[in-house]
Amino acid sequence: MENSIRVHSIFATNQGEGAWIGQAAAFIRLQGCSVGCAWCDTDYDSGETLEVGEIIARACAIVCPGAIAVVTGGEPTEQRLEPLVEELHRAGFRAHIETSGIRHVTAAFDWITVSPKRSFDRTEQRFGNELKLVAAYPPDNIDCLAAHAAPFLELPFEYFWISPLEHPKGVFNTAICQELTQREPRWRLAIQAHKYWNIP
Ligand code: SF4
Repeated sequence: MENSIRVHSIFATNQGEGAWIGQAAAFIRLQGCSVGCAWCDTDYDSGETLEVGEIIARACAIVCPGAIAVVTGGEPTEQRLEPLVEELHRAGFRAHIETSGIRHVTAAFDWITVSPKRSFDRTEQRFGNELKLVAAYPPDNIDCLAAHAAPFLELPFEYFWISPLEHPKGVFNTAICQELTQREPRWRLAIQAHKYWNIP
């Protein structure tokens, strides 16, 4: 259906990452992802197909319009998002998206977070508000990480975050992320604060 979207879950939380950390938010996690990160611990298969109006009603029931609505995944750009963004705006939400950047963001989001999981050459969405690299690709070597990260710094983003790899087995590569921030201060050390707050 034209205005239906495959949704994994909709829940109230506080943004745990990036420049909007701490902000009350409705997270709208969508189903599906074709990126295939080896270290992925995200369940993006389960869920249901919902009309856009139902998504908005559920978001309005859990946070006040005026808060942010964060559309994430999985990989949210695998679905057509224009109707959802239009209705989020109509309901009074700021519409944010978190994408791996494997394709262009076409809907009129107010805030674009790109977290590339593939190489620079295979990252299509090359502008936005914040860019977050996870130090999982390439792995734990500062020269490799610095070479991988360098071209992303040339892109028009306001914030650049470098994130240790957080995994059920632990947190990896924090030291080389810190070293990167000291070599190139435009990189800031990222955190996934919701995991420390123990909230969704
Ligand atoms: Fe998992 Fe995100 Fe990678 Fe998709 S892009 S496989 S959801 S980590």
